[in-house]
Amino acid sequence: MTAVSEPGRERAGRTPVQDALADQVNGTASLDPAATEAWSTSNDGTTKPMLKVALPYELARRSAAFHEAGHAVVAAAYGAHIKVTGVIDVPAEGVQWSLTGRTEFDGPPIPFWRFAAQCAAGERAHARYLKSARLWSAESEAACAHHDDFEYTAASFAEAGRVLTRDEDLPDDASSGMSWTMACRMADLMLSMLWPQVEAVAAGIDAHGLLTGDQAAELAGATNPPPYTSGTD
Ligand SMILES: [Zn+2]
Repeated sequence: MTAVSEPGRERAGRTPVQDALADQVNGTASLDPAATEAWSTSNDGTTKPMLKVALPYELARRSAAFHEAGHAVVAAAYGAHIKVTGVIDVPAEGVQWSLTGRTEFDGPPIPFWRFAAQCAAGERAHARYLKSARLWSAESEAACAHHDDFEYTAASFAEAGRVLTRDEDLPDDASSGMSWTMACRMADLMLSMLWPQVEAVAAGIDAHGLLTGDQAAELAGATNPPPYTSGTD
């Protein structure tokens, strides 16, 4: 997701629990300028649209951290090697702040419904965080879905001759596929089992911005699956 400031909102503080968790991370992850540029573009190469949010910077950043942690933890649970996950500030003209997030991983082929679930895990983790923090509103709900995860997943499905609908039944002539609603339900189930790990990784992202996959795994008390090399087991 990409979020920018709405003027006049004050900043919130980080909780002691989050500080303690985040302190466990050793070393730092970093991005070169080209990579930072790439984080500002959607998966289809267009510049990510900005969404003005009413949340103060710290809460918007934490929401984005949960979004990325949701992707990372569910993808790792499905066997993907996490390369980097996190949230970065992307200064933009005319706004107090602007931020965006991304998770990069390298995993073995997985069934399409799992792929869809790990793609949906970002917005579902974001929504779960907002509800748990009593920040759920029509506006915050819109912010959850403000990114290209659905479009990216639909394009990947189409490449493989499958159909991803928003929430309708599959067309009669579709050979296979599913709805995004179903992907979100599957993501919710994974997140309910993995929520402590998602919280730990989100706290690390919140504190450090970027985490390597190994750092994220360490915070989650797990092992980062090994990189996948095509053609090997
Ligand atoms: Zn996402």
